[in-house]
Amino acid sequence: MSANLFTQFFAAREGSAHPFIERPDGGALTYRDTAEATARLAHRLVQLGVKPGDRVAAQIERSVEAIHLYLACLRVGGVYLPLNTAYTLPELEYFVGDAQPALVVCSPERREAVTRFPGAVPAVATLDANGEGSLMEGVGRLPTRFDDVARAEDDLAAILYTSGTTGRSKGAMLTHGNLASNARALATTWRYTADDRLIHALPLFHTHGLFVAVNVTLCAGASIILLPKFDPERVIGLFARSTVLMGVPTFYTRLLQHPRLDRESARPMRLFISGSAPLTAETHDEWSARSGHAILERYGMTETNMNTSNPYDGARKPGAVGLPLPGVEIRIADAQTGRALAGGEAGEIEIRGPNVFKGYWRMPEKTAAEFRTDGFFRSGDVGLIDPDGYLHIVGRAKDLIITGGYNVYPREIEDEIGQIPGIVESAVVGLPDKDFGESVAAVIIRSAPPQVTVEQVRAALEARLARYKLPKRIVFARSLPRNAMGKVQKNLIREALASPAPSAALDLEEEVKS
Ligand code: AMP
Repeated sequence: MSANLFTQFFAAREGSAHPFIERPDGGALTYRDTAEATARLAHRLVQLGVKPGDRVAAQIERSVEAIHLYLACLRVGGVYLPLNTAYTLPELEYFVGDAQPALVVCSPERREAVTRFPGAVPAVATLDANGEGSLMEGVGRLPTRFDDVARAEDDLAAILYTSGTTGRSKGAMLTHGNLASNARALATTWRYTADDRLIHALPLFHTHGLFVAVNVTLCAGASIILLPKFDPERVIGLFARSTVLMGVPTFYTRLLQHPRLDRESARPMRLFISGSAPLTAETHDEWSARSGHAILERYGMTETNMNTSNPYDGARKPGAVGLPLPGVEIRIADAQTGRALAGGEAGEIEIRGPNVFKGYWRMPEKTAAEFRTDGFFRSGDVGLIDPDGYLHIVGRAKDLIITGGYNVYPREIEDEIGQIPGIVESAVVGLPDKDFGESVAAVIIRSAPPQVTVEQVRAALEARLARYKLPKRIVFARSLPRNAMGKVQKNLIREALASPAPSAALDLEEEVKS
């Protein structure tokens, strides 16, 4: 049988009247409706020139049709390339230039600009938040059956761009085998059945909201209630007719602020899952006390899909990310030498298994650098394994900031700040933030007067960077703290900025918050 993810999970359900996607107002699309809608869209993609192996880039708002586009892309054997809706035009231009998609689907407002990208995109179509646009033109007249293009396990299903620690983003190539094996492992671990109804308020351009949420649902023949955005009031209101919530830690801290969250309102729910950023033991405990449910935390990343999960039946340990998923191997190694470390010692988390990606798009050297010779992938996360075999993440080898579940690589922001005239250098760090987990802060050194103002810095960055990457706090200093080797000591910057009197530790000129 073909390893096409869509065929694997959908073939047996094509005629089913079971709901696949429910809108919060109650309207539902069954599996049969979805089979027909995605068949039509698959024909439309072929019409637009998409051939097996072609990339289909999509920077689109969340909608039922956005999920259909992902599935239709799988059906035609294309490679789906979802992009954060917050990306600016220069960012989008980079991704399109790098991935060379056969088709770009974007908002109607961006259409014009995308057609003018250098290198000429072969086809551009639009899709708005209501699921309307030129992509849907004539779709209603197309056939409701489509013969899925056969795919092998190793064929690409998607490319997801990760922010690079150095320079630009890298495209992680994910195969049909990667996605299908991970969906199966998660559905089994989390005891998913066709009776499950997932409250879906995660972005559809990230591994969590697209692959974990959609593929696990498909694998079990379950249902999704698709929310337009995360709204605590609405989410709590849906507990009565749902079974699962998948969230980032920020969802849980926000829900905890809502007076209606209690044992009574949470009783109908079966499972609360958290991932994409560290969930503090404090939030975990607070959630247990208020709702009567222990959050199940799991750990994964764009390149590997999900790696570990706390168990469904066994202890869900606060602060731990759990046990390796079926088929996934985890080891802790010395980051420099690659030597495996004994139990309990902290080191770099390395991962091997059918979940691990094929490599970075057109970057063989970067790919080679991230894999050990025996096939283990170097995650860049630092962790240890406790005596019960649970993985704990204790830090990050890479300088990543995770804000509200989104990854921000300081290097990218520093590079952009460095482009602004009148700036000598900068250091970008993450600071603890109760709501977002971490927030972005920048310490900037300016050149001689007339000095660039904070408004100028903000305006320049707003034009170049997605909103979530913009520093919430900007500090002008006379110098950056450095060690004897000349390396900027970001730990000192973080400590200073977190203290009530940062100027005591940093040579500050001026501080501006927003
Ligand atoms: P992304 O590729 O956007 O999914 O981000 C992956 C990174 O998020 C990982 O490398 C970790 O640093 C972090 N991450 C994901 N899940 C967790 C978790 N449960 N706890 C702590 N960090 C996490």
